[in-house]
Amino acid sequence: MPHSIAFIGLGNMGLPMALNLVAAGHTVTAFDLSPDATAGAAARGLAIASSAVAAARGAQIVITMLPAGRHVVSVWTDLVPASGEGTLFIDCSTIDVDSARAAHAIAQAQGLVSLDAPVSGGTVGASEATLTFMCGGTTEGFAAAEPILAAMGRRIVHCGAGGAGQAAKICNNMILGISMIGVCEAFVLAERLGLSHQALFDVASTASGQCWSLTSYCPVPGPVPAAPSNRDYRPGFAAGLMLKDLTLAQDAARSSGAQTPLGKHAQALYAAMDAEGQGGVDFSGIIERLRAGRAG
Ligand code: NAD
Repeated sequence: MPHSIAFIGLGNMGLPMALNLVAAGHTVTAFDLSPDATAGAAARGLAIASSAVAAARGAQIVITMLPAGRHVVSVWTDLVPASGEGTLFIDCSTIDVDSARAAHAIAQAQGLVSLDAPVSGGTVGASEATLTFMCGGTTEGFAAAEPILAAMGRRIVHCGAGGAGQAAKICNNMILGISMIGVCEAFVLAERLGLSHQALFDVASTASGQCWSLTSYCPVPGPVPAAPSNRDYRPGFAAGLMLKDLTLAQDAARSSGAQTPLGKHAQALYAAMDAEGQGGVDFSGIIERLRAGRAG
């Protein structure tokens, strides 16, 4: 059934997601603080409102896709009181668990149902409507949101109560950051030992070293032709975004008392890469730092 949807945040992810909602037959009114973003979105045929509050007025569903927790809490603080009874709030940004829970509390105080629904799949998944959504919220919220999210993604998982989607996202990406560094270290060691990339790949990809960082995103060119290593480490998934997610994981580890020594080390290695101006390089490009002995 078509819905009227307000979409706030038209960046690299938000714009293609909003366009997929339109393609699925929904009525979308959008807003972004950046004039460049709204101009680009208008040129693609998206209806643009004069403010976030104007976009949300009369909408049945409000979706936010913003950089960080403080943006989400601030936008929800403005929009929730301006929204009608029964409006469903969905945040798809990657943010800290505490801010996600604060956003849920803002909606709940007004009697509105809400969902945290961060995504994986990157800009390609956003364009091709193949994202994975990891959702936190009530069963009622999940049931209401699922058909809407289905227009933007392929896999939609209910992970638990409010904040559980963000928790799943940062735990998954902590595995990814650590496993990528592990795979890179193995290739660097293999090079020193005179073992070819292909030989290591052929063994490890079907043995106990098998993981996504190796078989889908191999950090050396050759074995996996679609991986960013074959195009000079153009992202893909930029190191700066991996640093953001590993930092969120470290914040959550600190506040929950979890021991994550490898997550902490991975965060430090990506922070060093970012500090040297390589935040825009694909995160698998960390192999070049390891090879050069600049791992920190
Ligand atoms: P982006 O920086 O391209 O877009 C964010 C947009 O939000 C910008 O256009 C900005 O102007 C707008 N914005 C900021 N504050 C605003 C406000 N108060 N009101 C309205 N608009 C506002 O970021 P992105 O790559 O689209 O990522 C969005 C979110 O998705 C982030 O939380 C990111 O971590 C997450 N994410 C990104 C990727 C990816 O590959 N890019 C993958 C998974 C998750």
